[in-house]
Amino acid sequence: MRNQQVLDESEIERLVELGRQVEDHYGTPQDVEWAVFEGEVYMLQSRPITTISGSGGSAAASATDGSGVQMEAEDDNEVILKGLGASPGIASGPVRIVDKLDELDKVGEGDIIVTEMTTPDMVPAMKRAAGIITDEGGMTSHAAIVSRELGVPAVVGTSSATSQLDDGQVITLDGDKGTIRSGKVASKEEEADPLDDVRPQNPVKPMTATEVKVNVSIPEAAHRAAVTGADGVGLLRVEHMILSTNKTPERYIRDHGADEYVEEIVDGIQTVADEFYPRPVRVRTLDAPTDEFRQLQGGEDEPKEHNPMLGYRGIRRSLDTPDVFAHELEAFRRLYDMGYDNVEVMFPLVNDAEDVIQARNLMEQAGIDPEKRSWGVMIETPASALCVEEMAEAGIDFASFGTNDLTQYTLAVDRNNGNVADRFDELHPGVLKLIGETIATCREHGVNTSICGQAGSKPKMIRYLVNAGISSISANIDAVRDVQHEVKRVEQQLLLDSVR
Ligand code: PEP
Ligand code: MG
Repeated sequence: MRNQQVLDESEIERLVELGRQVEDHYGTPQDVEWAVFEGEVYMLQSRPITTISGSGGSAAASATDGSGVQMEAEDDNEVILKGLGASPGIASGPVRIVDKLDELDKVGEGDIIVTEMTTPDMVPAMKRAAGIITDEGGMTSHAAIVSRELGVPAVVGTSSATSQLDDGQVITLDGDKGTIRSGKVASKEEEADPLDDVRPQNPVKPMTATEVKVNVSIPEAAHRAAVTGADGVGLLRVEHMILSTNKTPERYIRDHGADEYVEEIVDGIQTVADEFYPRPVRVRTLDAPTDEFRQLQGGEDEPKEHNPMLGYRGIRRSLDTPDVFAHELEAFRRLYDMGYDNVEVMFPLVNDAEDVIQARNLMEQAGIDPEKRSWGVMIETPASALCVEEMAEAGIDFASFGTNDLTQYTLAVDRNNGNVADRFDELHPGVLKLIGETIATCREHGVNTSICGQAGSKPKMIRYLVNAGISSISANIDAVRDVQHEVKRVEQQLLLDSVR
């Protein structure tokens, strides 16, 4: 079938004729896209070929990937492995299989880390690497979140990269398509896009009524995040700061004292709050499942849980260990005393007003005035969505949809389980209904709403949320610009509809 001729002779003749016309028109060889529909040949797109040197080049051997980089002779570099494209970009380099912490030293500039699953200790090596590949994990795993923030291409959830790839083997990964090819796929200089001449070099950030914010997990990414022009940080995950110490909070406090623990948190938050000041930075208190803590020093004392996603994490753990939680809250108090009035407090995995009232009381005990500061909750369980009215009455200023968890708990689909990954649908009507009703209730009570889960970058979700009247959308660093444009488009459509 592959070797059979697809176009008939008359279609080929027509195509050649059109190709010549386009080339004559522009006066240079053209890379064209075309289609045949009901016997007619249509020319869809044309742009100059910039990769032909002298007379020897041929456009036939080249193709263009999504990012505008020329990929040569893809057929010679067969796809040897597939996973989820978790952080965009293409990277080539030698494989470094890492399965123990002390093997991190072998990762040099330009290498590709291949590991079962990344851990917070790997961040320095992840920064040096040209690319990252994991066996396990989904789009919301540590590897996916951190590589996106560092701007390092990554493919996650390949199942078998550590066993199929060899140390030193040169490969090319595509963080958009989720593919791994053998060898180095030559990437030629950026293809000149004819639109570059007419596009402004620093496009102005679109002004939108809905705020567009950015998610940050590692303070090292704060600058990259701030220069996106985002309206603030919609989610700063504290756990990455704590996990990067390689000790559980309890072990860290035992070894270094509570004061140093508090300072560790203050430092991390301060780095981000400085970059964004006076734009708001919404900091979420600790939310790490026990299996993430287990890899750390002190992790041997963590409870062994059958399903950590349904276990001892988020606000339920903080309320259960108020002494440890008090140190985290102390970090917020110190930041407020230092003048960081742009810092906001967000509680994860709450279920109801009772959780909220207990957390607020502990905040007060730590010397933080809930009336003076902006604080709120993540909406990550169906219970929290259904109980948002009572939480509004308890005084929250905002509610932020954590759709990574809200989807897994609404659909009973473990977000890290590859067997059910195709059922992880953030746009499921059940999830959307919970979100829509929560926004409506919050609007009635003057509570701001936001989204900080992955789904906030999806155009369909953006359309749904802006139409429902959400106050802000927080996206990953690489998605902020697209989200700004999509929000603007939806708002303009709403405006047009209102005057028609
Ligand atoms: C979420 O659940 O959508 C979220 C943003 O939190 P995390 O991914 O850290 O659980
Ligand atoms: Mg969550």
